[in-house]
Amino acid sequence: MGLAPLWRLRSAQAVEQNAPEELVAEQIAAPAPEPRQAAPRPAVGRAEAPAVQPLARFMPPAAEGGAPVPSPQPAGDLASLGWDELDARIRECAACDLCKRRKRAVPGVGDRQADWLFVGEGPGAEEDERGEPFVGQAGRLLDAMLTTIDLRRGDDVFIGNAVKCRPPNNRTPETAELAACFPYLQRQIELLQPRLIVALGRPAAQALLNQEIKIAAARGKLFAYNGIPVIVTYHPAYLLRNQPDKAKAWEDLCFARATMRRLKHGA
Ligand code: URA
Repeated sequence: MGLAPLWRLRSAQAVEQNAPEELVAEQIAAPAPEPRQAAPRPAVGRAEAPAVQPLARFMPPAAEGGAPVPSPQPAGDLASLGWDELDARIRECAACDLCKRRKRAVPGVGDRQADWLFVGEGPGAEEDERGEPFVGQAGRLLDAMLTTIDLRRGDDVFIGNAVKCRPPNNRTPETAELAACFPYLQRQIELLQPRLIVALGRPAAQALLNQEIKIAAARGKLFAYNGIPVIVTYHPAYLLRNQPDKAKAWEDLCFARATMRRLKHGA
């Protein structure tokens, strides 16, 4: 796939002092710190979140001239479910129309005691076939990205998605679909208790942070989901189409790695 050269040093300027030279991306452009502004779910750490529009996660827009449309909810009480029961519930979920065309729901995969949680958007065709997240081309790039910060799928890493069923033609999940699926991600996070969450792309970031997010503005900041730090970066599928932005994703991963070190060692 020719990934390696795109993660190789050209600029002498490293994002992180101890980053291995061959892994420092081309065209490093350190983001300027952004001004502090208020947000519904505040960013923590070195900056706060930008001005935001709350998403209608649990408050779908009112029908024309009528009462609010109830958000479809997964059946039953997820709060008491363990991992296997939760996976089973996801596999049989019919809370939104995405279930109608799925081959397999994709609950998530990895170390159930991981410090790291990566959250993508939703399954694509290969994930729909196999029931596992990020196994297609974007998944291979995600694996390469993980390697650059000494991580491996399944080893201290859990990978999930904002929606668990494939949107038709890989379209972006709709707000109502994200809302319907969010309780599953919420329960996964409760079970996992990760130290750090990395949101891959806008839908994942918006679902977690419950606010409008622009990745370009949100990257380099520390947000929080229920007290768990959240870092936002580009989705690997976007990076496949916009290769120069891999340099920015590399910066974000370095930021994530440095944040994890601080969380673990308090430095
Ligand atoms: N893209 C995603 O967001 N998730 C997957 O599982 C695969 C591709």
